[in-house]
Amino acid sequence: MSNLEDLYREVILDHYRTPRNKGELPPPATCTEGSNPLCGDEIKIFLDVSDGVVNDVRFTGHGCSISQASASMMTAAVKGKSLDDVRAIARRFKQLMTIEEHDGSAPADVKLGDIEALQGVVKYPVRIKCAVLGWNTLLEGLATAQA
Ligand code: ZN
Repeated sequence: MSNLEDLYREVILDHYRTPRNKGELPPPATCTEGSNPLCGDEIKIFLDVSDGVVNDVRFTGHGCSISQASASMMTAAVKGKSLDDVRAIARRFKQLMTIEEHDGSAPADVKLGDIEALQGVVKYPVRIKCAVLGWNTLLEGLATAQA
């Protein structure tokens, strides 16, 4: 088990030190901000959505390694995906974080890849908010982008 935890820690640190899709997108991309005052985490998500597809996604922000690594993993997971797929991935992630019950609405075969490295976070409930920040900000952004 400790080997797996070491691997997870490495994946998280890798995304923290070398974030994917970090930066901004110019308008008309939407920009949505989220924060987790408990920990001091801040995330901005830039979204370029058209024809029901997330063409591009970037993020900026600062905060703890969990919040920043999770946002990096999220952008890598949703870039180029359809909105339906993105919502399914987000739902699957929240199930992993035990925020949402398995109600059969998300296909169990949604692949989370690197994101599964965050499942160790569930043992530290205070950190779940850090891990979910980028995802909630993404979902808010999607709602804006589609409006
Ligand atoms: Zn945090």
